[in-house]
Amino acid sequence: MAFYLGVDIGGTNIKAGVVDGSGAIVGEADLPTGADRPQEVVFGDIVEAVGRAVAASGVARAEIRAAGVGCPGTVVPESGVVAYNNNLGWRNFPLGKLLSEALSLPVRVENDANAAALGEVCAGSAKGASSAMILTLGTGVGSGFVVDGRIWTGWNSAASEFGHMVIVRGGRPCTCGRLGCLEAYASATGLIALTREAMAAHPKSLMNALAGEEGRVGGHTSFVAAERGDAAAARVVDEYVDCLACGVANIVNGLQPEVVSLGGGVGKQGERLLGPLRRKVFAEVYGGCGERSTRLVSCTLGYKAGLIGAAMAAMQNAGD
Ligand SMILES: [Zn+2]
Repeated sequence: MAFYLGVDIGGTNIKAGVVDGSGAIVGEADLPTGADRPQEVVFGDIVEAVGRAVAASGVARAEIRAAGVGCPGTVVPESGVVAYNNNLGWRNFPLGKLLSEALSLPVRVENDANAAALGEVCAGSAKGASSAMILTLGTGVGSGFVVDGRIWTGWNSAASEFGHMVIVRGGRPCTCGRLGCLEAYASATGLIALTREAMAAHPKSLMNALAGEEGRVGGHTSFVAAERGDAAAARVVDEYVDCLACGVANIVNGLQPEVVSLGGGVGKQGERLLGPLRRKVFAEVYGGCGERSTRLVSCTLGYKAGLIGAAMAAMQNAGD
């Protein structure tokens, strides 16, 4: 039986796993990323995490055919070079070549959001879909588009950055330098900013009490308060869903994917988010055909999506 290694390099942890041909994890391990450490030290821990995952799986090394890595930032899958990673401080780091030498396996490197999208299509919320857009609503808005089981990378490998689609021209500043990107509004960061503004304007809102109890404002604060009948929180949720719906309707109009899956911290709101989002998106899509053609769902694999997707990309790259 053939197995594939999957590695997901996150901001907090390096996760490695051994995955079978159906996308099931048979052994996994993780180590802290320690992104402020020198790149060769971080690389050493990637190899170490892989070794521990293989040991945990009990799979013989001879049965492992290839390895895949999901890495944040700009990656060139063909060469395995990480051209730019802000968090790790990597510039033109030949991750694929080094890992291939260390493991004596072919290695495929993909953008982490793209790998996670492939994972959801192979084994999660969009399993079997002919096309799917996976949006990760976390610190930023990650996105990956998979068509006929393959990641859409564009001609220079940097496609599918739908988080940086402008939805408000001249709007809020985005981390990318543009104004009014979807990410500035629909990320957890954007939602928390909106929540803080409403809390300051409505000091008696339940949002303030909830944040006080927990000692922090989260992406869930407005959703929980709105569900308990707080009017200011309901307006925050409504505005947030409006912004996200604008972006999703643009995606449906442009690509008409069979499935749009929402993941990340805000994606965990499930039907509290999906119910109102579906109503707004389906009211906005061109020709009113969204409800018949696109399913809006929550991601189901969580952190495992990136790891599974990286392994599946390795399997595809090996021609298996
Ligand atoms: Zn942007």
